[in-house]
Amino acid sequence: MSNLFQTYGRWEIEPASAQGSWMTDINGKKYLDFTSGIGVCNIGHRPEKVQQAVLEQINQYWHVSNLFTNSKQEEAATKLATAAGMDRVFFANSGAEANEGAIKLARKATGRTKIITFLNSFHGRTFATMSATGQDKIKHGFGPMLEKFVYVPYNDLEAVKAAIGDDVAAVMLEVVQGEGGIHVGDQSFLQGVEALCKEHGAQFIIDEIQTGIGRTGKPFAFQYFGLTPDIVTSAKGLGSGFPIGAVIGREHLSEYFGPGSHGSTFGGNPVSIAAAIATMNEIFHSELLEAVQEKGKYLVEQIQNNLSDVPFIKEVRGLGLMIGIECDQAVAPLLSELRNQGLILLQAGEKVIRLLPPLTVTNQEIDEAVKILAAVIKNSDAVKA
Ligand code: PLP
Repeated sequence: MSNLFQTYGRWEIEPASAQGSWMTDINGKKYLDFTSGIGVCNIGHRPEKVQQAVLEQINQYWHVSNLFTNSKQEEAATKLATAAGMDRVFFANSGAEANEGAIKLARKATGRTKIITFLNSFHGRTFATMSATGQDKIKHGFGPMLEKFVYVPYNDLEAVKAAIGDDVAAVMLEVVQGEGGIHVGDQSFLQGVEALCKEHGAQFIIDEIQTGIGRTGKPFAFQYFGLTPDIVTSAKGLGSGFPIGAVIGREHLSEYFGPGSHGSTFGGNPVSIAAAIATMNEIFHSELLEAVQEKGKYLVEQIQNNLSDVPFIKEVRGLGLMIGIECDQAVAPLLSELRNQGLILLQAGEKVIRLLPPLTVTNQEIDEAVKILAAVIKNSDAVKA
């Protein structure tokens, strides 16, 4: 019997080591990892610069509390705020905590409580973030949720218009819905939501926990759409696997997060901050980001070229290296066979295969992954049937 709560449907692979895009299990079998630890190890497993920064920090100290002056936290905040074109940062430990902070900040700044979010969104597993999430399966058995969350269909500006008023604290969205199935927001929808927020004095919160830190080929995905959100949240890729989350806000919000208003014992932990600084140094420059855009296009093209004749594939879509293959049936059996053949992928919802390779993936690795994907899909019972 396991002593773990069985909250995860675990795969029968136990990693022994990992480097770059590759993982080796305890039996010596090699896998191409196109999950990046669910969008976390954005510059691959064990990037040298991050490893060095973490080791250096561990040799100095690894926890002192947020009561001390901390120039490394300042440096990380400056890099993150600059990359987002924003002003202030609060460091937490995870994506859910970052969103929790964003929700608190928006409510306090506006003195309002109602928050509009979207169907199929995912914002986390704490009470506020579960309440913000527009998927019933996440909330099952945990009710009642936090009050005053309203859910409207994604990419439907008329629905936002109908729901918004001068009682709304915030509209919160993902620019590309990740867990909900890799749905990319339309430019007119996203800009329309921002305009409605401005019109009604609501805060515009963008959850960049999965889309941020270079995943889509920009530091943050909202930068493709000419948006100026009030609050952006980050986590996952920010620490390359060391736990960290961040609320990034504009200056007009700083007075609402003053001393004693919000906090976290571990938030902005020195080791995670060291990892985050090294990660941002590696990712936030144009060569890497342009390469992500190119590789994303190449990966989509390769999937389309090799799988265009497979009838159960409905659509290939995404932004940068955040890609979904929508199928007309459940993809779990395919993903299991792909793992047997040495390629690890994710699902997003029941019918979408999700690819989140490291941003450092090579074209040869993409070719190899697509070769395995095509062979497994073409041999699957779904295709033969
Ligand atoms: N928001 C988005 C868009 C996510 O994809 C996730 C995690 O998948 C979260 C929030 C929650 O992050 P965490 O699991 O770090 O709490």
